[in-house]
Amino acid sequence: AKGAGRKSFHLYEATSRYDHVENFMNELALSKAIEKNELQLHYQLIYNPSADEVVGAEALLRWQHGQTFKMEPSEFIPVAEETGLIVPIGYWVIRQACRDWHHLVNEYGSSFKISVNISRIQLNEESFVARVLAILRAEGVQPTAMELEVTESTTLHSLQEVQLNLAKLREAGFTIALDDFGTGYSSLSMLTQLPIDKLKIDRSFISEGNLPLISAILAMANALQLTVVAEGVETREQFHLMSEMQCWGIQGYYLNVPMPYMELPTLAEISFK
Ligand code: C2E
Ligand code: CA
Ligand code: CA
Ligand code: CA
Repeated sequence: AKGAGRKSFHLYEATSRYDHVENFMNELALSKAIEKNELQLHYQLIYNPSADEVVGAEALLRWQHGQTFKMEPSEFIPVAEETGLIVPIGYWVIRQACRDWHHLVNEYGSSFKISVNISRIQLNEESFVARVLAILRAEGVQPTAMELEVTESTTLHSLQEVQLNLAKLREAGFTIALDDFGTGYSSLSMLTQLPIDKLKIDRSFISEGNLPLISAILAMANALQLTVVAEGVETREQFHLMSEMQCWGIQGYYLNVPMPYMELPTLAEISFK
């Protein structure tokens, strides 16, 4: 038994040392991703069923390192956050989203908004608002054409700086959406105090078909004059259900998997009338 214990200890140690090297290599590679042109934005359309309109698209970051190596955002975004690399990467995302917006607004019309995910690390930067505004100005995009998605944890348990920056961004004309709504711990009273315009219902509630919860969120959002987007809509049933429940926006694989903006379906192709 003693021998086995020692053996597993060595095994563990070897794995952990390997992990350190691997993490280091990943960080190094990620730090060069911008200059090596390895980052890309994929998009998912957001569809408004009552107006039969594409109202926006969410930008989702992709990293292709070398010929074959591809890492999921759920793996490399935490690395980018821990190392602070999310700050320059985040500015790259905003600039690229602005460039793609010009094409998208042409295709889907003037009410089209581009949504960008923002990490709390980015919102902690004192100069964040000024730099974002400078990027938009340089790219010829109005703040009203962009939506910023933040998670509940970002808005609720955050420092003064984050709250201040969010309020400033909203004042400048950006729409603020609370992402993954329902997975955090926001109380109703807090929700009324946050500088937000929109809730994105977490996809776990859609996939569970948690109707009591979904209708409660819709009723509450309605009372607070917040619009709601359902995420992770994968099936025809879910799509029709969310439309019937008067959900403002629908997003998910049923409409399209994330893809480069040139490949997105046209409005005619996603019209389910
Ligand atoms: P998120 O913001 O909640 O984005 C939605 C995620 O759900 C995306 O995963 C998307 O591909 C996936 N998804 C969309 N529709 C469906 C569906 O119908 N079914 C299922 N099963 N999944 C669906 P992705 O692209 O892997 O991104 C994961 C997370 O990484 C995002 O979650 C977001 O938190 C983060 N992320 C992505 N891009 C950025 C970025 O540019 N900046 C920051 N800070 N975070 C980002
Ligand atoms: Ca999001
Ligand atoms: Ca989400
Ligand atoms: Ca998520």
